[in-house]
Amino acid sequence: MDKITLSKMEFEGHTGCLDFEKKDGQKFIVSLDLFIDRIKGCYTDELGDTVDYANIYETVKEIVTGDSGNLIECLAQKISDGVLKADDRIEKVKVTVSKPEAPVKGIFETMEVSLERRRKEFVILSLGSNLGDREANILAAEEALRALAGTEGFQYASIYETEPVGLEDQPYFLNTCVGFYTDIEPFELLDRIHVIENELLRTREVHWGPRTIDIDIIFYGDRVIMKPELTVPHPRWYLRSFVTVPLREIRDVGQDHPDDKEVSLYRKR
Ligand code: ADP
Ligand code: MG
Repeated sequence: MDKITLSKMEFEGHTGCLDFEKKDGQKFIVSLDLFIDRIKGCYTDELGDTVDYANIYETVKEIVTGDSGNLIECLAQKISDGVLKADDRIEKVKVTVSKPEAPVKGIFETMEVSLERRRKEFVILSLGSNLGDREANILAAEEALRALAGTEGFQYASIYETEPVGLEDQPYFLNTCVGFYTDIEPFELLDRIHVIENELLRTREVHWGPRTIDIDIIFYGDRVIMKPELTVPHPRWYLRSFVTVPLREIRDVGQDHPDDKEVSLYRKR
């Protein structure tokens, strides 16, 4: 990755927990590392083929001078969100926010926070339940996903009642799909999903058997992962109408829906 650095930009800001910090303001120093997957301008020498430094500076300035929150941690998060939004060629950003005049007694050069944030990708999960209050289980799982740090922009499909697949002698399921943007890495997301499943008292006694909640990762951006613990896209998603039907209701699915175009038939060999 190529890196552009804007270092030690100084602004007057009002972020702080104490009243006089919010009222009087103080000095904030912000540094950025912008990571880009090959800057086109390296080859073309065109101004438009790299990041507009002045625009990034103004973006940061507006956020820092306009903020009246408590924590520089949160200010740094807002800056990372703003910078990733300002130019979609920036894949990752490192933000350092420094408060050299922090109201702490003692001798120090500065007090600062650094964050690294990458561009969020769109993830689609399949949710299913056939035990207990099935709708409440699905809604609780969605709530738990929303509560994770690093998820946003949720899109929901309708909830469908479906016949059990695999092991047929069990109650009907409720199924849905949910899509959202996240920077939680795939395996970390799978761990969080297992925690949510366990919190909803999922029992794992019977494979493909009844469950309070089952959450599967169907797509993670355009990534392909071929591990037994995590296979993405989900290896059986296209075979299961309890996935494909709700999936069509998710807008940012990243490809045309299968029925949007005429299907051309190829002759079998
Ligand atoms: P199933 O979803 O097939 O009914 P489980 O929910 O018990 O069964 O999942 C079994 C294991 O499948 C999980 O522990 C997980 O590690 C693995 N797995 C592989 N790929 C995925 C995926 N795309 N989404 C969720 N789990 C997956
Ligand atoms: Mg599962």
